[in-house]
Amino acid sequence: MKIYKIITFGCAMNRSDSERIAAVLEVAGYKKVKNGQSPDLLIFNACSVRQSAIDRIYGQMGKFAYLKKKNPEFKAIVTGCILPKDKKKFLNGFDLIFNIKDLDKLVGLLSKKRTFPLHIKQSYQTGIKYFKIKPKYQNKFSALIPISFGCNRFCAYCAVPYTRGLEINRSSKDIIKETKDLIIDGYKEINLLGQTVSSWKDPNKKNYKFVNLLKDIEKIPGKFWIRFHSPYVLDFNDELIDFLSKTKKINNYLNLPLQSGDDAILKKMNRKYTVNQYLKVLNSLKKKVEDFNFSTDIIIGFCGETKKQFQNTFKIFKKISPTMAYIAKYSVRPGTVAQKIFKDNVLLKIKKQRHKQLTNLLRKTGKENNQKEVNKILEVLVDTWLSKEKECLGKTRNFKTVRFKSNKDLCNKFVNVRIIKAREFELLGKLSK
Ligand code: SF4
Repeated sequence: MKIYKIITFGCAMNRSDSERIAAVLEVAGYKKVKNGQSPDLLIFNACSVRQSAIDRIYGQMGKFAYLKKKNPEFKAIVTGCILPKDKKKFLNGFDLIFNIKDLDKLVGLLSKKRTFPLHIKQSYQTGIKYFKIKPKYQNKFSALIPISFGCNRFCAYCAVPYTRGLEINRSSKDIIKETKDLIIDGYKEINLLGQTVSSWKDPNKKNYKFVNLLKDIEKIPGKFWIRFHSPYVLDFNDELIDFLSKTKKINNYLNLPLQSGDDAILKKMNRKYTVNQYLKVLNSLKKKVEDFNFSTDIIIGFCGETKKQFQNTFKIFKKISPTMAYIAKYSVRPGTVAQKIFKDNVLLKIKKQRHKQLTNLLRKTGKENNQKEVNKILEVLVDTWLSKEKECLGKTRNFKTVRFKSNKDLCNKFVNVRIIKAREFELLGKLSK
């Protein structure tokens, strides 16, 4: 019996891919590695959003020769988001590089008759078979459901359209069936995933859009919450916002990436909205959706970002006051438009200073937002049990982290918690009846 190990980098989309890789291998008779075992198949599911994740994979390549010596059957495989430049270099150490869209062919690609290293250069599939693979869910109550694959937006700094290709949408029939099955199996949280999840459209039904999908999922009987990651601000219209203001199952939380608070930088990034358009959508959500909570993404030091332009981002950040933000220092991704036509000319020292300034502001906005929850009784879905501390961690419907003392493991349960204290990035509470 052969043993596999998967090392996953990057976002929820990659974690979802890894669940499908595990499923394909287990159907073919492979077993997941256990502590102390050495795998026959080592699979890296790569992320090219930051150079650091790719560098960590390069760092592992030196070990492959030793592992092969110990076990002549050993194979190292890399898939996921990989830029062409890295694919060439990976061939010096990996046995197989394949496109995640070709996952249904993986076991065939490992056949003994083949000569390695093998680089499967291009996928001609539409991605339909990828969606049909039933994943091996890694969590017993919170499931990841990819509803689309790839992206058509081509933001100047981003590698995704080159690594994953153009957007392919999964049918609503498939998505709803997977959701229903999960709810029957006792799942409490459904995470709909897509690079720009809100631009999803049913490939088989005309005029059936993302909001229609949400409405149909809402109708599935049972007590569960639905989250979706990551939306694009221009996909929000009145119909979607009105629905989000009425729903009881879809979370009143969004990660709504802003990236910059300066119109000239947004234009350079090829983000197709202005700061005012972003504010209009956000203000409408804040006004209409009860207890609305949001996080955002910001890129610091994008090509040529001046002090004034950063100050614009700082001002807007203060104005919108997110509870959480994913603040990244810009790093060049080879092959992207930004790499080809702009200069990465903001000094690292300046990027670090700006990052620190914005992070300090986030600590304030996070604390201020969390403070509003003190003395409220909030419903929490428990996801972690810390046996040593005798504490549970969970999330509110609007995605705030709550920590509270408990004598037992309450994972996978909805409980009520009275909030007694706010921290920058979490709430402390007491179990309530
Ligand atoms: S929307 Fe932009 S940042 Fe997001 S995946 Fe697509 S190209 Fe990348």
